[in-house]
Amino acid sequence: MGVPYRCPNCRTNRSRFNIIKQVPRAVKLDPETGTVMEEYTTEQLSPLHFTYKGPEVKIQCGVCGLIEEERTFAKFGEK
Ligand SMILES: [Zn+2]
Repeated sequence: MGVPYRCPNCRTNRSRFNIIKQVPRAVKLDPETGTVMEEYTTEQLSPLHFTYKGPEVKIQCGVCGLIEEERTFAKFGEK
């Protein structure tokens, strides 16, 4: 944050955005029903369970609705 954004799709929007916080939940589902059976903290995760390492936020353009990673909007905002 704190860098200028511009939407690479509609190309005009530099001010209206939705910042979408990504909050991963590590869960164990019942394979038959999809019900959450257990939920884990990062420390509790087994080595077989992949830890989320994606971006903390995604950005949506408030004009055209495009959703991309923050760096995509920031890179276009530089120009
Ligand atoms: Zn846009």
